[in-house]
Formats: sequence, structure tokens, C-alpha cells
Amino acid sequence: MSTAAINPNGTLKGKVALVTGASRGIGEAIAARLAMEGARVVVSARTVEEGDSKLPGTLSHTVERIKAAGGEATLIKADLSSAEDRQRLVDATIGTYGPVDILVNNAAVTFFIPVQDFPEKRFKLMMEVQVYAPFHLAQLVLPSMRERHTGWIVNISSPAGIHPKQPYGPGRGGTVYGMCKAALERFTTGLASEVYEDGVAVNVVSPGLVDTPGVAVHGLINAATKSRVQPIEYIAEAVYQLASGDPKTMTGRVDYAEPLLKELGVQPSDLI
Ligand code: NAP
Repeated sequence: MSTAAINPNGTLKGKVALVTGASRGIGEAIAARLAMEGARVVVSARTVEEGDSKLPGTLSHTVERIKAAGGEATLIKADLSSAEDRQRLVDATIGTYGPVDILVNNAAVTFFIPVQDFPEKRFKLMMEVQVYAPFHLAQLVLPSMRERHTGWIVNISSPAGIHPKQPYGPGRGGTVYGMCKAALERFTTGLASEVYEDGVAVNVVSPGLVDTPGVAVHGLINAATKSRVQPIEYIAEAVYQLASGDPKTMTGRVDYAEPLLKELGVQPSDLI
């Protein structure tokens, strides 16, 4: 039986968390986990209601899931490929709950296409949503974090960011996805060093293969990969453990969810 519950007096009581890509999949799970510890969570994406997207999952559902369990959440619709929407997202978050304490850059749009055939428009969209949006959102939340000497930015990466090694296979067109995640990781470590003295922590959490609507679209789970599928709770727990940890010792790390939890001696909590 699940013991999942909201603890309004949990370790994140009084904290404001902004989670992107929280209409479904990993972002929804992260939002639920942070809310369980008493954080007030802003969930953002483009899909507000059913019918807005072909994929399952909506921001309204994520908010209902958290509120039904007694937590605090609000939705703010934003298209992260738009600079105007990114600015509005942070302004509206501050207007609703106050300055952001935890920013989780999770949203991603991904196309698997070999380099030779990759359209410029899709390349630019992936770079905008996966690299520039996390960079810009960090710029927007950093002034208040630095001033208050507290804050955590967690960027969700992927093993795709690791360089391919010989023997090479034919590949499945993941070079641009890998480029985005490698850039996100380098951004993370660079920013972690820049803001270390300001008490702001910046980290990467990399999921393994997780069964989400996005993964289903790409058909990534099949007979050859299904034994590697990781419960979504691992990623949510890893993000929570970082965001409630010691910023001075944990900042700048690029972690895979499962080894991080092993190192910390933590079992992932069930989710509300
Ligand atoms: P998903 O099911 O495809 O969900 C992606 C989320 O990003 C959705 O909430 C989507 O919301 C949002 N999004 C996409 N484009 C957006 C835009 N232009 N503006 C705002 N939001 C946008 O993905 P997932 O599998 O949960 O993956 C989440 C993160 O984990 C990604 O960074 C992914 O690269 C990483 N990851 C996943 C896996 C895995 O196996 N699942 C493995 C490694 C890394 P809307 O469509 O409603 O806007």
C-alpha cells in the first residue's frame, strides 16, 4: 500500500518551486514530489486542458493531483520557445507565490533525425527549448536567489549527453539531442562555479529510460530496452534530495538518479 502523502510541514515548507514540462511525464512526477515536502509548486507547459495536445497529461491534471492530496500548486501556461512567455512565467510565479527557490528545467522537445537531414527549424527549436530556455530562466530567477543567498537550479539531462564510443552502431539520429544535453550539463557546472559564493546551487539529474508519453512517441521502450526501464519515482526523488541537501557540497554535480540515491542511502518515495 502506498504511504504517499503531502507533509505541509515538510523540508520544503515555505519554498517556491517552478517546474517546467510538468503537464506529463517526469516533470509531473517532480512537481508531485516537491509538493509532498510542503513546497508551493508552479507547474508549467503548453498543455492546460485535455484536447490541447495529442499526448496524455495536462497541467490541470497535475494541479488537481497535488491539490487532491492537500498540497499547493498552480499552473502557468508558457511556450518555452518564446522569450516573452519565459519572462511572463517567472513574473507570474513571483506574483503568485513569491520569488523562486527551486527551478527545475525539465521541459524538452526532441526529434531523432540524422545530422544530414536535420531541418534548421527543428534544430533551432530544440536548442531554444532545451538549452536557451533553461539559461534564460536561470537568468530571470538568479538575481533574487543571489540576493537572498539561497536557491537551487536543477537541470534534467540525459545519458544522450555522453560522447558515443566505438564500436559505433548506426545510431538513431540522437546527435542533436546529445548536443543539447551536453550543453545543458556544461552550463550547469559553469553556473555552479559562478554562483557558488552566493549560496546558489546548480545541478544536473539524468534519468535512465523512463516510461513517459514522450518516450512512447519515440517508441524507445521495446523488447531490447524494457529491462532498463527506471521507475519515475527515482528521478523525482533525486531532484528532491538535491533541492533539500547541502548546497555547498552538492552543487555542480552531474548525477544519474539511481546512483545518487544509492550514494545517499535513500529509497525513492511513492508519489501522491
Ligand atoms: P515528455 O513526456 O515528452 O514531456 C515533455 C514535457 O516538456 C511536457 O510537459 C511538454 O509539455 C513540455 N514541453 C515540450 N515543449 C515545450 C515548450 N515548447 N514549451 C513548454 N513546455 C514544453 O518528456 P519526459 O520523458 O518526461 O522527459 C522529461 C525530461 O527528461 C526531458 O528533459 C528529457 O530529455 C529527459 N529525459 C527523459 C528520459 C526518459 O526516458 N523519459 C530519459 C533521459 C532524459 P507540453 O507539450 O504541454 O508543452
